[in-house]
Amino acid sequence: MPVERMEPRGAEKLHKYYEVYETIGSGGFAKVKLGRHILTGEKVAIKIMNKKDLGDDLPRVKVEIEAMKNLSHQHICRLYQVIESPTQIFMILEYCPGGELFDYIIAKDRLSEEETRVFFRQIVSAMAYVHSQGYAHRDLKPENLLIDGDHNLKLIDFGLCAKPKGGLGYELMTCCGSPAYAAPELIQGKAYIGSEADVWSMGVLLFALLCGYLPFDDDSCVVLYRKITRGKYDNPAWLSPGSILLLNQMLQVDPKLRLAVHQLLEHPWVMKDYNSPVEWHSRQPLGHIDEDCITEMAVNMKRSRESTTALVKEWRYDHITATYLLLLSKKQRGKPVRLRMEPHVTEEAVSPLHAQLEVKKSLHFADDEDAPILGALDLCSDYIDDCPWVPVSRQTPQGVREKTERIADDKRLPSPLKKRCIRSPPFERHQVTGQHHQEKRHKEHQHAKENRENVVLQEKNADTFALPPPRTPSSTKKNTRPKNVLTTPNQNGTPKAAGSGSKEPVKRKVAESKESNNIEILPFSPERRSRSLDMAGSGDSGKKRRGGRVFGSLERGLDKVITMLTPSKRRALRDNPRKIKAQYNVTLTGQTNPDDVLNQILAVLPEKNVQYSQKGYTIKCRTWDDFGKVTMAFELEVCLLHKPEVVCVHRQRIKGDAWVYKRLVEDILSTSSI
Ligand code: ADP
Repeated sequence: MPVERMEPRGAEKLHKYYEVYETIGSGGFAKVKLGRHILTGEKVAIKIMNKKDLGDDLPRVKVEIEAMKNLSHQHICRLYQVIESPTQIFMILEYCPGGELFDYIIAKDRLSEEETRVFFRQIVSAMAYVHSQGYAHRDLKPENLLIDGDHNLKLIDFGLCAKPKGGLGYELMTCCGSPAYAAPELIQGKAYIGSEADVWSMGVLLFALLCGYLPFDDDSCVVLYRKITRGKYDNPAWLSPGSILLLNQMLQVDPKLRLAVHQLLEHPWVMKDYNSPVEWHSRQPLGHIDEDCITEMAVNMKRSRESTTALVKEWRYDHITATYLLLLSKKQRGKPVRLRMEPHVTEEAVSPLHAQLEVKKSLHFADDEDAPILGALDLCSDYIDDCPWVPVSRQTPQGVREKTERIADDKRLPSPLKKRCIRSPPFERHQVTGQHHQEKRHKEHQHAKENRENVVLQEKNADTFALPPPRTPSSTKKNTRPKNVLTTPNQNGTPKAAGSGSKEPVKRKVAESKESNNIEILPFSPERRSRSLDMAGSGDSGKKRRGGRVFGSLERGLDKVITMLTPSKRRALRDNPRKIKAQYNVTLTGQTNPDDVLNQILAVLPEKNVQYSQKGYTIKCRTWDDFGKVTMAFELEVCLLHKPEVVCVHRQRIKGDAWVYKRLVEDILSTSSI
């Protein structure tokens, strides 16, 4: 199916249909921004790729696009539209506000068996569907599972997927994915069956959910590969016999002895407390036509229902497809099936929907309470700073001044918001938005009703998302602190700096592993390769386990903080760092002075080879590989927790391998002794 060709610039067309907001993620090749589809008012994720940067990986993107066009499932991130220009590709995707499963696991250190089961059933459901469509995913890991507004998982990143021509039973040869999750037959360079390799990765994923660290891990790739090919790992004491058995059945070195996905669907561990097999059929089958959506589009486009249906059925993944799928998504969430109408819409021969999009400025957001804020932010310069297609002139002081005047004149904005936009420095405003999103996300989460499986668990565990729960029975035993601020003492020594296990260039590592194991070189970019190979850090699993506690456990000494924060100190702090609500990516400190915390972190960063820039209480951090490429980007922001007012550090991974990030930030925070 053809993608929509853009003339003259893809970005212009993107802006015609979507409002574009802040960057919410970044991968090996792409930057992902939050967006809003103007006509439906729905939020979307916009994956932006520069063709020049993609280089040899361009086919990977094409593979991903083709796969996503063919997959429609409740646990797979939906593709809505593809916009292509001579230089860029934009993929418009279903927006998943809950972040990566990886961040969720590390925030909680590990998940309970019950919560793991909820997520694992969804993973099995998605994978059974993917396999039923003839695909193998080949890059399953918690970074590629996002959490949506209803706390359900959505699988992303199909760039490495394969659809063997002769069916899934046919053997594949390309070794790909992230080494820690790769099946033994795959890293040995043997021919392998994609679905069998996926089950291995699901086993590693299950282990990571239940344990909070990887079953096979090592600084050295060669040693890591050896561990994987032997298939030996330690079961921690907290695993139930049922979990141990299931892991063992999935992490079988011989693929023929490994469970198949169809066996997982009704495995006793998977069925426990449910008494029903995993439901894996798509609830949103491809090609389904919803009459209400068609009617709304037909009215809007001033076309007959028949011709509208014919247009939608072309599935061109253009703006028609996006409008239809987003309307359908609204309907499925119980929202009105409505498109935003403008009083004077001119009909356009090819696509009337497009004509309406020119009038973006006067749209309103009646059914979405955060829309005015987003609308306001469209006018804020922090947004354009980060937006590659915004003319440079708009980023000059003059441009900002003009913008300020526009904000002041804009009748859509409530005055308090205008004041905030005009008064605050751009950076601060950005953070205000983030907080707003989190609050909104929390609300959405509270209202989540669609997923039967999760509802049960959420009822049991209402504060799941708010704060890490106590991680071990011992940590909760004598804890008399308020529930919201439960913590375990930081018993960590200073873990090794991420990547410090080896200073040798990535290329040499690859060569070495190839030499010693006669393994085919992984055919992905240096960036992706380094993400995987850089899985350095803590050595033995014992160390890792201790390290794994830090995110959940730096929330220590809180009693002390609460006592020491006298009202006068609190007043003095109030004007400075941002006040935030507790979230799972926030680490509480044992300190009372945000400036001290900030300075302590800043002092440690050079030691850890982290380059940074600081704006107010936010530190933007980066690490580089030996070839001058950014391997990791993340932000640390010193904040005050809303209730009770204590100093905390808000962490946000922007780019880079998740486990390396985890270790590095643990290292920074524990070394700064905050
Ligand atoms: P790449 O293909 O370059 O690896 P990804 O597709 O993995 O990029 O996206 C990079 C990051 O952007 C993800 O890890 C995630 O944090 C964020 N992201 C991607 N898609 C979405 C989405 N649909 N909703 C929210 N965040 C997303």
